[in-house]
Amino acid sequence: MTAQEQETAATRWAPAYRAHCPGCKWSGRTFSSYGSAEQAAQGRADKYGHVTHVIDQYGLRVVGSVRRPGGEES
Ligand SMILES: [Zn+2]
Repeated sequence: MTAQEQETAATRWAPAYRAHCPGCKWSGRTFSSYGSAEQAAQGRADKYGHVTHVIDQYGLRVVGSVRRPGGEES
C-alpha cells in the first residue's frame, strides 16, 4: 500500500460528525470532533427553535446528541 493509499484509508475511517436538523433536513459542515458538531447543533437549535442532533459519517444519529433550543438539557 502506498503512502497516498494509506492516507485515503485513514481519511475514510476518521470519525466525522455533523449537526443535523430533521425538521428542515439540514446538515451542517463536517467536523472531526464531536464537540464541535454538538456546538453547531446547539447553535442551530437556539437560532431556529428546532430540536437538532449530531450524526456520524454514516448519517446515523449519535446516541445522546439531541440538542434542544434554550441550551443544555436539564
Ligand atoms: Zn431546522
